[in-house]
Amino acid sequence: MSIFMRQFGADMGQDQTKQQIEKGLHLYQTNQTDKALQVWLKVLEKTSDPGGKFRVLGCLITAHSEMGKYKEMLKYALAQIDTAREMEDPDYLTEGYLNLARSNEKLCDFQKTVSYCKTCLNMQGTTISLQLNGQVCLSMGNAFLGLSVFQKALESYEKALRYAHNNDDKMLECRVCCSLATVYMQVKDYEKALFFPCKAAELVNDYGKGWSLKYRAMSQYHMAVAYRKLGRLPDAMECCEENNLFLLLQHSDRPLQALCLLNFADIHRSRSNVEKAFPRYESSMCIMTEIGNRLGQAHIYLGVAKCWLLQKDLDKALDALQRAQELSEGVGNKLCVLKVHCLSERIFRSREQQEQLREQVVKFLECVEELELYCGMCGESIGERNQQLQALPCSHVFHLKCLQSNGTKGCPRCRRSSVKPGFV
Ligand SMILES: [Zn+2]
Ligand SMILES: [Zn+2]
Repeated sequence: MSIFMRQFGADMGQDQTKQQIEKGLHLYQTNQTDKALQVWLKVLEKTSDPGGKFRVLGCLITAHSEMGKYKEMLKYALAQIDTAREMEDPDYLTEGYLNLARSNEKLCDFQKTVSYCKTCLNMQGTTISLQLNGQVCLSMGNAFLGLSVFQKALESYEKALRYAHNNDDKMLECRVCCSLATVYMQVKDYEKALFFPCKAAELVNDYGKGWSLKYRAMSQYHMAVAYRKLGRLPDAMECCEENNLFLLLQHSDRPLQALCLLNFADIHRSRSNVEKAFPRYESSMCIMTEIGNRLGQAHIYLGVAKCWLLQKDLDKALDALQRAQELSEGVGNKLCVLKVHCLSERIFRSREQQEQLREQVVKFLECVEELELYCGMCGESIGERNQQLQALPCSHVFHLKCLQSNGTKGCPRCRRSSVKPGFV
């Protein structure tokens, strides 16, 4: 074939590109993931239309994100940015940076995620890129949560919810609700940790006919976690089992599978059934390692350490805690580090190893201070046990009962008035 032929004969034009992308989408939606990927990769190779190239990269990014192939996701996001630069289009560029932020979020590179999100928000696009701002705020919130910066996470989620409401974007609202479930889970307001995924499930029921089944699974997973924390283990189990069956049918959503397995293991641990917990932690670990979710791995080691504590094998518990500490310090998750010190403290106390005990106490208190996990009114801690909390629109968090005694004088910490109630 002559060079001329290759250029004008084999290349896909705009129409054919569009057609092939649609064909891939149809295959993907009917769970023929491999075939869909083949079609899209061919488009990527052959298309001469930059807009089409950008779009097909978007499809590849979504598919690889759902499969948990985050390094590939990152690769396609970088290619998308190159394409957007060639096209000199600010809207495309914003979308490219959003995907770059998301890839880094999935790979637990939370600082990078925050900075790419800021790049997105600073970009001067048109109304189209403004519509992406809600998703940018969600990703930024997730990154702050990954770093255990709770107030900034809440602030970002509040903004994301406002965008969702203003644009009537139920899908975004559903995703933010699931993220909020995780926040309240971590600061131990289990009522809110259950409220938000229930709300997400409601949104799926009311509006989600055409949505990816992933949304339903996501809300179920978060409900199961909250049920477990509330001690409603049979409910947790039911949610989890139903979801697990569903996930087996769904095209390989490995990331969610790993989380469900972890929750399964935690449920068994809550029932002191260590024999059933360990193999589930192991299966979850396989997937988390494969997809590169280091924070997930840290959570598994915490669970494993608690199992060894139940078994009274303190050396093995300390080993697991060591691994959890390395992983959580690596990704910068302070809450996880705090938990490590808290559990280590218990071990050294029971062994009466004073020097090591003192070291853990000091580190634990440093974490508490850094996390600013205290109520701005009574000064008592937040997140130590199950308590009802309330965030104001300024995203400062208080005990609900403390705020109720405050009347309507605005935020006790920053004095910003709270005329309208916040979403979070
Ligand atoms: Zn208080
Ligand atoms: Zn405030």
